Amino acid sequence: MLHYSHIVETMDYLQQAKSEGKTIGFVPTMGALHEGHLELMRRAKRENDLLCVSIFVNPIQFNNLADLEKYPRNLSADIQLLHTVSCDVLFAPNAKEMYPEAITETFDFGALEKVMEGAFRPGHFNGVGVVVKKLFEITMPHKAYFGEKDYQQLAIIQKLVDMESMPLEVIPCPIVREADGLAMSSRNARLSEREREIAPRIFQILQQAQGLVSQYSPGQLKQWVINEIGKTKAFTLEYFEIAEDKGLQLINHWDTSIGSLGFIALNLGNVRLIDNIRFI
Ligand code: AMP
Repeated sequence: MLHYSHIVETMDYLQQAKSEGKTIGFVPTMGALHEGHLELMRRAKRENDLLCVSIFVNPIQFNNLADLEKYPRNLSADIQLLHTVSCDVLFAPNAKEMYPEAITETFDFGALEKVMEGAFRPGHFNGVGVVVKKLFEITMPHKAYFGEKDYQQLAIIQKLVDMESMPLEVIPCPIVREADGLAMSSRNARLSEREREIAPRIFQILQQAQGLVSQYSPGQLKQWVINEIGKTKAFTLEYFEIAEDKGLQLINHWDTSIGSLGFIALNLGNVRLIDNIRFI
C-alpha cells in the first residue's frame, strides 16, 4: 500500500494510474476504522482497479470543539486494517496540507441542509462539502462510496456532485451494525461499558417503530419514538424526524409511492450518536 500525506504526490500517482486506464474507487473516512468502513472499502476494491482511502479528521465539519478534540485517532491500527482489505493508496494529510489558507468557499445545499443534522450542527455540511470537493479533486475517482449511516450527508454529497458536474458516481452503501443492532461508528469507542450496554436500545426502538407504520400517522409515530427514548434516562434526544428519502423533507402522512425513513440523533453520556431506518 502506498501511503501519501501530500496532495501533489497523491495526484501524480492517481493521474498516472488513470491515464493507464485504471479505475479508481474512493472511500473518504475520518479514521478510527471499523467494519462499517471496511465494507465500503471491500466493495470499492471489488468494483474498481484501485482502492484509494483517505483518512482526515476534518476540523471544519465539527461545530463542537470538544467533539473534534475527543474524536478517536489511531493511524497505526487503521493502517493494519487497510492491509486486510488490500487498499492500494492511503491519503492521510494533515490540516495544513488540506487548508493552507483560510476557507471562504460556501455551498447552498438548499432545503437539504435545513433539517436534522443541518439544523442541529451549524456549518457542518459546508465543512463536509469543502473537504469532499477537495478530496474528489485530489483523487479523481470513478466511484466514491458513502455509508447510509450518514444518510443526509450522502444526499448532500450527491447534490454537491450534481451542482459541480463532477464526473464520478456516488455509491450508497447499507449501514453495518454490531450483532446487537448498534450502528457501527468510530464514536462508539468512547462509550463507557454501561453506555455500550444501553446503546442498542436506539435501534430496537427504531425497529419497533418500523412495525407500527401501519397503525400510526408519521406525527403519532414520532411522538411514540420520543416517548420510548425518554424512558431511557441516559439518552438525551436531539431529534427524531420522519422524512422522505430524496429531498429529506419532513412528512406528515404516509404515501406508499414515496420512500421515507426515520432519523434519530441523541447524546448518550457525552457521545453523540445517529441512526436511521427505512419505513417505506
Ligand atoms: P466517517 O469516518 O465516520 O466519516 O465515515 C466514513 C464513511 O464511512 C462515511 O461514508 C460513513 O457514512 C461510512 N460509515 C461509517 N459508519 C458506517 C456504518 N456503520 N455502516 C456503513 N457505513 C458507515
